[in-house]
Amino acid sequence: MRYIDEIDIKGKTLFIRVDFNVPLDHYRNITDDTRIRAVLPTINHCLEASAKVIVASHLGRPEGKPVEDYSMAPVARRLAYRLHKKVTLAPDCVGPAVDRLKKGMKRGDVLLLENLRFHGEEEKNDPEFARELMKGIDIYVDDAFAVAHRPHASVEAVTHFAPICVAGFLMRDEVHYFHKCLEDPARPLAALIGGAKISSKLTALINLLKHVDKLIVGGAMATTFLKAMGYDVGKSLVDDKLLKVAQDLMATALKKKVKFYLPVDCVVADRMDKRAETKITPVQEVPPDWIIADIGPATVTLFGEALQNAKTIVWNGPMGAFEYDAFSRGTMAMVHKVAESYALTIVGGGDTDVALHKAGEFQKFSYVSTGGGAFLELLEGKKLPGVTALENWAKRNRNAL
Ligand code: ADP
Ligand code: MG
Repeated sequence: MRYIDEIDIKGKTLFIRVDFNVPLDHYRNITDDTRIRAVLPTINHCLEASAKVIVASHLGRPEGKPVEDYSMAPVARRLAYRLHKKVTLAPDCVGPAVDRLKKGMKRGDVLLLENLRFHGEEEKNDPEFARELMKGIDIYVDDAFAVAHRPHASVEAVTHFAPICVAGFLMRDEVHYFHKCLEDPARPLAALIGGAKISSKLTALINLLKHVDKLIVGGAMATTFLKAMGYDVGKSLVDDKLLKVAQDLMATALKKKVKFYLPVDCVVADRMDKRAETKITPVQEVPPDWIIADIGPATVTLFGEALQNAKTIVWNGPMGAFEYDAFSRGTMAMVHKVAESYALTIVGGGDTDVALHKAGEFQKFSYVSTGGGAFLELLEGKKLPGVTALENWAKRNRNAL
């Protein structure tokens, strides 16, 4: 894969695919602009080279037609504020009006295209739509790691039409840190996995067994393993179809000498509610009809000891239903433990990201991925279409740059 700082972009017309799928409130105010700030280094790099910068993204799920609520207008305003620069919002992402705007651009101009998903062709990876998007473009820059697992027109098909295709700085960091954590880690390498997407995360665990020295499982993920070991887990969140997979995974871990850790105690609740009755019990003593909602204090100590000598820690998924204060202590405690460690710490996952912010420790992690779904697919060992498209372009054009 080639990167934006390897090529001459002076005065060129660039199309930067970003992920500006920001959260909006009822009045369509942006409640968190992390995703906008994450690509400023790439956009500023282009502006410093006096390039003509066209930026494109999707927002929400307009399902192939223009929907006022999903217009990029709020994003255009915030981007202008962050860049200290005028940002023109195009009325669409393709078509004659956009072509005119593209033609009229001067060096150092920023044009934000309207929502890519106002066209159904985007999600269908339609080549004609991709060709339209690339009209008048000298260089395609992919800086949208969070959609790299989606084979969409502005991610995949465009790489067959743009003269030059490179990755931006955010994409570079994501790929680099992921490589540092799984392919070429400082050892011992420990993975801490929690959360609730049990089936896809089990696939991730199977893949992780090939790479890690220690596998530590908490959250609702752990409950499926506890049940697979024969414990009564009451009414806890469990995927019964996966009990056999969980058993096989534990056997494989033993065979491969991967150290495997499960909670030894838990916070149980009589219902998932903020007024629920709660208590702390060993995993052997979960009352029937109660729910495991968090890891307990002994588990926090155990997991902390297991992480002590790790040189690399990769973390995805909270340790409990941390949205409720009563069930957030396990996750908060683990945030502090991982934050205090001397390891390279890499975190992915939307809810895990929220937990780091809630604990006020976000800044203490080596790297926090901007792509929840894409990060999980990497953990699962899958190839991301967005990354593959850039690699293939580089292969086809080995001598172009
Ligand atoms: P991420 O977004 O970080 O990848 P997930 O989406 O897989 O994480 O899981 C986060 C969700 O898991 C949270 O909403 C949390 O409430 C839930 N969760 C974690 N542990 C439990 C548990 N023991 N019981 C029920 N829900 C849980
Ligand atoms: Mg989530």
